[in-house]
Amino acid sequence: MIKEKNPNFKGLWAKYSKYEIIENNNEFYIKPTKKSESQIYDVFDKEKEILVDFLMLGKKAYDYKDKNDVNCILMSKEKSFQTEILNFVNKYGMLGILTLGLKNNNILSAGKAIIQQSNEITELTPNDYIKPYFITNKDIQKTDFNNGITPDVLNVYGSKNPVNEGYIDFSKNEDFKLVFSNEYSEKVSEILLLAKSLYHIFYLVEKAGWTEDEAQKTAYESFAKDFVPTNLSFEFSFMEEKRFLNWDFNSLFQAIELIFAFNETNDRKELKMCKHCSKPFIAKNIKADYDTVSCRNVENVYRNRAKKKNA
Ligand SMILES: [Zn+2]
Repeated sequence: MIKEKNPNFKGLWAKYSKYEIIENNNEFYIKPTKKSESQIYDVFDKEKEILVDFLMLGKKAYDYKDKNDVNCILMSKEKSFQTEILNFVNKYGMLGILTLGLKNNNILSAGKAIIQQSNEITELTPNDYIKPYFITNKDIQKTDFNNGITPDVLNVYGSKNPVNEGYIDFSKNEDFKLVFSNEYSEKVSEILLLAKSLYHIFYLVEKAGWTEDEAQKTAYESFAKDFVPTNLSFEFSFMEEKRFLNWDFNSLFQAIELIFAFNETNDRKELKMCKHCSKPFIAKNIKADYDTVSCRNVENVYRNRAKKKNA
């Protein structure tokens, strides 16, 4: 076994027990089912699992047959991709795209949402920013978010909202009451796009790590510099005589980015990309280069042929 050890990390996220896919205007969304219950978990308890599952999803999106589908719209309409997303979200919860995109906090109290679109900073009203995440609920479309936290807005938060429960360890700001509402939804295509983009970075960083061609290495490294995780924050916390680094994620996606960055910069990393099929896998020993025996065998055949040719 590979001995890889983080400091004492904590990073809490919430999920519901069950999710469903909903169609609205020929677009597909994922949201918690009506009867599901919320729960809080520590992302670091499942860090390698979540990263490998997310990258595997990203690889499928990356390998999609129609390369013109840059925004993952076509694949989001396919049952097989919807099932993959459901499996992922049922295990780990939604990504928190609403809070991932924000440049400011407490958008209801502040009366505005500041976002960055490529190089431009844009300001939106809470109504314009929030409502697309509640598109599957017609009543919420009539709710006014522009006047702060009104009784109508409290209704949107819902009774099972984990942030409302006031867990000591989970004191997240008001924006998360929206993200963890039972009615909050995310677009299947947007989740696929984020998974695809992270897999692309993974591919470049891994390739840069083992390609022998110097020019290619430089190219991979320069592309991989596009990876710029946004404003992470953390604090110390003390529990049971132990010190923890408590990460305050703005989204599950940001948590996955962080786990990814720790993995890629670790000399004894567990999660690798198979040198034959490019799938992410959890290596059982530090020298493993392939996810399966068959990938290793195929690659050995190639090598032997190449040797004979050069001989
Ligand atoms: Zn393989």
